[in-house]
Amino acid sequence: MLVNLLDFDLEHLSDYCESLGEKRFRATQLFRWIHQRGAQNFDQMTDLAKSFRVQLESHCTISPLKVLSRQNSKDGTIKWLFDVGAGDAIETVFIPEEDRGTLCISSQAGCAVGCVFCSTGHQGFSRNLSTGEILAQLWFAEHTLRAELDRPERIISNIVMMGMGEPLQNYSALAPALKTMLSDHAYGISRRRLTVSTSGVVPMIERLGRDAPVALAVSLHAPNDALRDRLVPLNKKYPLAELRSACVEYLSVAPRDFITLEYCMLEGVNDSLDHARELVQWLRPNPSERRVGLPAKINLIPFNPFPASGLVCSSNETVKAFSQALLSAGIVTTVRKTRGDDIDAACGQLAGEVLDRTNVQTRMTKQKVIPLHTHKLVESLL
Ligand code: SF4
Repeated sequence: MLVNLLDFDLEHLSDYCESLGEKRFRATQLFRWIHQRGAQNFDQMTDLAKSFRVQLESHCTISPLKVLSRQNSKDGTIKWLFDVGAGDAIETVFIPEEDRGTLCISSQAGCAVGCVFCSTGHQGFSRNLSTGEILAQLWFAEHTLRAELDRPERIISNIVMMGMGEPLQNYSALAPALKTMLSDHAYGISRRRLTVSTSGVVPMIERLGRDAPVALAVSLHAPNDALRDRLVPLNKKYPLAELRSACVEYLSVAPRDFITLEYCMLEGVNDSLDHARELVQWLRPNPSERRVGLPAKINLIPFNPFPASGLVCSSNETVKAFSQALLSAGIVTTVRKTRGDDIDAACGQLAGEVLDRTNVQTRMTKQKVIPLHTHKLVESLL
């Protein structure tokens, strides 16, 4: 079986080159060809010795994902649907703005966390993506857009790990992918412009801080454990107090001095002024902290309903009042902006296709899913 070189960060690629009898520094050349120049054929890599290229040709591949579809929005947003085999597909979204280009990347096919307001959660978990499948989304988008726009310079300046899946439940594949995104020999993304969004996998937040401290976003959605246990079942394992401590700890290594908290507005569930006050209280310093509390920026996300959820989006007035209550307490709060409405790439509309895991033996039924992490395509995050 051929080795997919997209699966390696630079260190692992150096190990691999060494295992082929080459000097470790050859890996840097190879890495640049793949990620900076988008090479897919070893023949192109003319500064590598012919004998090395022949070896690479016989053992390795640079394996792209198969594009199932592409949609272009009037506002410039682009959505790709990629086939990842066995009936599963994932989506990747590019959001261009005047001063930046942001790519939203998926980390899993489906998701095991099962948040009640998330269609991906309702569909269940299919499998983790490999490092190569995570990076192939970036590799493809960057080099496709560069060729189309005829621009030699980098197109993607910001990355959000907010597509389908819980990235911190696929940590072993995520970590090398992040390292490659950050590497100056690959995409050179700044730590501040690379955001991992999590529903609160506490031990992995700590590990992320050690291995690749990038910007952190947390899907909060509730200000107390009783409610969060219902909305984000992972809360039963890692309750709010533990999550809060992990966030405070993370700030000591984070590239930004705040954590982004995402809060999906659900009518009659989590959107009262009491909830807003509780949220303010949760962020305030506890006795051991004295001064700062948890510095956070809150993104309010109008819920995009889907039938199985039985949930409804809060009214504009409620979102406004909730936001005002937070702002009055001195908390930076934004309401999510929508992009790519006309191609269903807006927050909460992003629809991949995965097998219905609840009915997998009987039919290969493909169903729409709405990865809720993608609800978080919020300008203020980027
Ligand atoms: S919101 Fe995120 S963590 Fe929760 S089920 Fe959806 S994809 Fe998974």
